[in-house]
Amino acid sequence: MTLSAKSAALIEQLRRVATREIEHINRGSCPDKVEGVSVRDDECPACKVLIKADRILGQTCTVQAGEEQIAGLTLEQQAPR
Ligand SMILES: [Zn+2]
Repeated sequence: MTLSAKSAALIEQLRRVATREIEHINRGSCPDKVEGVSVRDDECPACKVLIKADRILGQTCTVQAGEEQIAGLTLEQQAPR
């Protein structure tokens, strides 16, 4: 299996999140036992990596955009055109 450079870069970033080299800022919108595993904070470096992975996998998650919470939308729908 050959990975594209983009895929390899994302896997590298995911590894850094898993090893806590890139940490969640934990300001309330990061995935945890309280908020659940599908929430993301769009200002958190670790969540940004997860959002990229979510997009590729076509996952639905909740992204905290400033004060406004967008629930139940797929990230592809929110991506700028
Ligand atoms: Zn986070």
